[in-house]
Amino acid sequence: METKRDFLKKLGLLTVGGVMAGSVNPLQAAVSNAGAGKKSIGLQLYSLGKELTADVPAGLKKVAEIGYKTAELAGYGDRKFYGSNVAEFQKMAGDAGLKITGSHVNPPVRKYSAENKGEIAEFWKKTVEDHAKLGVITLVQPGMPAIDTHDDAAMVCEVFNKAGEIAKAAGIQWGYHNHSGEFKRVVKAEDKEKANNQWSQGGDIIYDLLLNGTDPKLVFFEMDVYWTVMGQQDPLDYFEKYAGRFPVLHIKDRSVLGQSGMMNFENIFNRAYKNGLNEFYVEIEGIRTGMTQFEGVKLCFDYLNKASFVK
Ligand code: MG
Repeated sequence: METKRDFLKKLGLLTVGGVMAGSVNPLQAAVSNAGAGKKSIGLQLYSLGKELTADVPAGLKKVAEIGYKTAELAGYGDRKFYGSNVAEFQKMAGDAGLKITGSHVNPPVRKYSAENKGEIAEFWKKTVEDHAKLGVITLVQPGMPAIDTHDDAAMVCEVFNKAGEIAKAAGIQWGYHNHSGEFKRVVKAEDKEKANNQWSQGGDIIYDLLLNGTDPKLVFFEMDVYWTVMGQQDPLDYFEKYAGRFPVLHIKDRSVLGQSGMMNFENIFNRAYKNGLNEFYVEIEGIRTGMTQFEGVKLCFDYLNKASFVK
């Protein structure tokens, strides 16, 4: 049976001088420092949209006041974080009492090729450099590259592995976040004309090609459980098939967590913890009319904070 130590090794978390006791990994250590005695619930700041960007310092404070301990950013661009340089942004987060543990960033191109893979690697080098200064634990690509064939998937895996390698050298774990498009099937280029329906014909699910084609030591998968269900797949099947590849999750529902009835969060958490879940971020889109983003984000927090299955 795989020990925790083997598992951490596989994830590339067992670094020299790092997880020596074998009981704590860097992610858990950072999270537990963020707040004592309470559940550590994270928020993907994308959830707040313009309600955050209108006044970032005040917005971060409100996030912490709701009870969130950690946050994953969605505001890096032009080598700035929500328009601020690293030191300014660090101060804002520090003043708010919010630990910035992760960040979502997309490279500038969607179609990867032998010609542009060097340019993409350069992009990740700069991005990693900035995020290392900020002190995040994870850096995640949330947008899907163009994948129409097995060959495309193989090229994407090569680019992902390289991004993971660059991040790892700076002490950051690099991951990929899915929507539902990853659960379409693709065939090998030579079989393409035989397949006319991406959802139901033969071929392989893109997400599986990515999981199988990337190095677990370099690339982790931040599964968005809602988008996985929308892709007609069961997150639990993936947790079982690819144990250890999902140390971080996006906890999302159609709108406010727990209200649609379509997501079995209890089963998701129970299984994810067994598989080594370290961190999760609430995400909410599709807010109902008559509710602010902040109100939606608070209802999501309350749901998880009350839930006995969330540690
Ligand atoms: Mg998501």
